[in-house]
Amino acid sequence: MKVGVLALQGDVPEHLRALTDVVPKTSVVAVRRPADLAEVDALFLPGGESTTIARLLAESGLWAPLAHRLGEGFPVLGTCAGLILLARDLAPSPAGREPPTFGVLDVRVRRNDYGSQRESFEGPVRVEGVGKRPFPGVFIRAPRILAVGTDARAIAWAGDEVVGVRSGAVWGLSFHPELSGDVRVHRAFLRGLPRSR
Ligand code: GLN
Repeated sequence: MKVGVLALQGDVPEHLRALTDVVPKTSVVAVRRPADLAEVDALFLPGGESTTIARLLAESGLWAPLAHRLGEGFPVLGTCAGLILLARDLAPSPAGREPPTFGVLDVRVRRNDYGSQRESFEGPVRVEGVGKRPFPGVFIRAPRILAVGTDARAIAWAGDEVVGVRSGAVWGLSFHPELSGDVRVHRAFLRGLPRSR
């Protein structure tokens, strides 16, 4: 099994590092071109700047093949900007310009809704399937999940607020497990994958 990290912009090295703690190094692929995407059985979309990542996805020729695979149930975990790119609906944000999205996660999200860089914070998060110990939630100019539709379900909470959702094999988190030094979320996602190929 090969696992990819979309490596166009954002906190790519942190995801690669988290993954090499969980699977053999030879199974981890930095995805930059369509040929890389064709090689992997699952993909992580990193945090970063969703408008930039969306533009680079189009320029690299990755947008269309990724959209196609998502339509076939491709397992993808998006963190922060990654969640934004997977969301079905973006509410107008303080940032103003909303990127195009793949629309595969039935959630309404607003970019930067917890405030600017200065309002970034860390707090305990409860994540389904990773054990009782609270997960260190790192939130950086995070998108807020405003509503969860009937095709998605909540899998992570900060207090009463939903900060992670899932629809089939697609997960979206408003926080950054790759920056927490805790690989339980990466492990839980990979554990759920079919072991073919
Ligand atoms: N604010 C960024 C965006 O709108 C997301 C921030 C992040 O990924 N840490 O794309």
